[in-house]
Amino acid sequence: MLIRVLPESVAAAIAAGEVVERPASVVKELIENSLDAGARAVEIRVEQGGRSLVEVADNGTGIPPKEVTLAVARYATSKLETVDDLMAITSLGFRGEALASIGAVSRLELVTRASGEQVGTRIVVEAGQIGPVQSIGAAGGTVVRVHDLFYNVPARRKFLKSENTERRRIADLVTRYALAYPNVHFSLVQEGRPSFHSSGRGDRSEVLAAVLGVDSARQMIALPLSDDAPLRVEGYIGEPSVSRANRREMTFFVNGRWIQEASLTAAVGQAYSGLLMVGRHPVVVLLLTIPPEMVDVNVHPAKAEVRFREPDLVFAVVQRIVRSTLLGQSTAPALSLRPGWGGLSESERPGMIQPDWRALGWDGAQPDHHPSVLQTGLPSGGVPLLRAVGQIGASYLVAEGPDGLYLVDQHAAHERILFEQLMESHKRGVLESQILLEPVTVDLSAKDAGLLNEQLDVLRRLGFAVEGFGGRSFRVRSVPSLLSGLDPGQALGAVVAEFEEDETPLLKETEARLAARVCKRASVKAGQVLSLPEQERLLRDLEACRSPRTCPHGRPTMIHLSVEALERQFGRRG
Ligand code: ADP
Ligand code: MG
Repeated sequence: MLIRVLPESVAAAIAAGEVVERPASVVKELIENSLDAGARAVEIRVEQGGRSLVEVADNGTGIPPKEVTLAVARYATSKLETVDDLMAITSLGFRGEALASIGAVSRLELVTRASGEQVGTRIVVEAGQIGPVQSIGAAGGTVVRVHDLFYNVPARRKFLKSENTERRRIADLVTRYALAYPNVHFSLVQEGRPSFHSSGRGDRSEVLAAVLGVDSARQMIALPLSDDAPLRVEGYIGEPSVSRANRREMTFFVNGRWIQEASLTAAVGQAYSGLLMVGRHPVVVLLLTIPPEMVDVNVHPAKAEVRFREPDLVFAVVQRIVRSTLLGQSTAPALSLRPGWGGLSESERPGMIQPDWRALGWDGAQPDHHPSVLQTGLPSGGVPLLRAVGQIGASYLVAEGPDGLYLVDQHAAHERILFEQLMESHKRGVLESQILLEPVTVDLSAKDAGLLNEQLDVLRRLGFAVEGFGGRSFRVRSVPSLLSGLDPGQALGAVVAEFEEDETPLLKETEARLAARVCKRASVKAGQVLSLPEQERLLRDLEACRSPRTCPHGRPTMIHLSVEALERQFGRRG
């Protein structure tokens, strides 16, 4: 093929692709423009996950009529003049590319009225073609509407994720900016429904509660005021009990800019080391302030990455502040087993705090070679009738059977019980549900409410009767019988948490498997104190299981010490 210079329209579309990858990138660029324009209110409206419409309206400075055409032209910016300015960027934008890029791959409409102007101005850009400037009545500030994103780039349009995914990304983005800018009122309306808003009153903890939900927000620790010139770190870090299976809940802002930065993720990871199970990640919101000349923001077309002039310093400061705050303030002791340890399930607890049976001489693996080691083999078949004696460490039940002593892992045992009951009812084709005497109203975070709305069908098949009750409130009328022991809000929370871990549970997983995972979450946790009748009940249910001796994941539910082994250990037998 001959080498030739690409037509302007093709070149523009290629360049635009670097800036505008998906609807959320449009939202990001427009929000940044609004913030740069000093807006105190930013209202975002989205239709069809942003494919048919993204609208961002602000009450910022607006654009004077003479400059409107320039604003949508490529490499036209009011935020930068010389190359030297690049060394110390204080605005979010500076590349002068966003509006031009968006206009190259959509039908963009901009309506603006600058302060001091009597009338507003409107301009339309379609697939890069800039239309005439029109006078129009308009409120002070700027509204940008992006219609039919990628309508002229079918390849891009085809690769967009589902509308649900795009909506979630947009909600993630807006809520994060709301956290970073508590003085700005944000509102997000998706498909005509209000999905998030922040008051703009300046109270970051209030925004945090709106983003994470009140319960999770309560488990966030505010970082103390730090003064590690030249770096200031503010924000919130989650107690180890609010860990996640992915890194998406680690949010970093540098000088008001949301960035993805591997070194910051690593610094936080180190700070939590030993406090989280392998494969779990913390929830943090960190806002770094650093002199602009110490950070290069011009390394990524979407401005999503930065380069620190002194990366080691930043790493060390972040790591130290997070670690010391965690160890100093967390209610979770790092290394000791204590009842009520944040209510974590066993698999979520650091391995080091589990009792070391081997050290106690209770490893049955090689009893013959270690005469002093107790025998732990379990009798074959089911389990005999067990009498509850008590509980150790709020995690293990002590029980007496006809042939000795049993130690039962309460979490693993309950998991097994729920799992078998579940499989049984699933085989019968229905997950039985239990109607609540009084419907219960549950308030969720914006994100969880979104997840829940999308999965109402799955919830129904799992045995929940849930309906929207306005905004982020839901009314629960019935819950799956299996989860009827839980508080209805908790039961719903367990299921929604599963939706979050897996964006499309229905596609990847049968309901049975989803429900099995929910059982795991719903089961009695290690660290939960049980009354004697509750212990009895657990043992009865376990006896009724077909495979009572392992949990659904294959770990043992119990350890057996035979009378014989006890006698040998006490020197009563040879
Ligand atoms: P950049 O933000 O990098 O300067 P953009 O293409 O995003 O580039 O915007 C071009 C210019 O248009 C900005 O420099 C600014 O002067 C103006 N502008 C864009 N959006 C707004 C807005 N919401 N309010 C006021 N001015 C705006
Ligand atoms: Mg911009």
